[in-house]
Amino acid sequence: MSDCIFCKIAGGEIPSITLFEDDKVKVIFDAGPATVGHALVIPKSHAANVFEIDDELLAHAHIVAKKVATALKEATGCEGVNILQNNGEIAGQSVFHLHIHVIPRYSKDDANIKWTPG
Ligand code: C5P
Repeated sequence: MSDCIFCKIAGGEIPSITLFEDDKVKVIFDAGPATVGHALVIPKSHAANVFEIDDELLAHAHIVAKKVATALKEATGCEGVNILQNNGEIAGQSVFHLHIHVIPRYSKDDANIKWTPG
């Protein structure tokens, strides 16, 4: 979609710090991180939400999210990780291109992790 910010980031039109990339997804650091290391797994093809995305692509994005969580746990020494995904404005979605949040959690972090980051 021509006016979608995550299409532009995933497609490389807007530069980002990329943690991982393959032909299907790009993983970047969140611009407004809830905690240190907060990453986003962004599929390269546009789907607004879970109701639109292809099953195989969603499964692949979740496998990548697991790998990112594992790498972030090693890199940051965090004690846990939230992996979450919002669908629809009422559910806290603010960018309408499906993405998976990977949020490292620390014993004394002050992140207000609700099911509506944004
Ligand atoms: O789940 P939700 O749609 O609310 O999450 C959008 C996320 O995208 C936010 O955490 C926001 O900080 C992030 N974002 C970003 N870069 C942008 C726009 C939004 O990392 N240019």
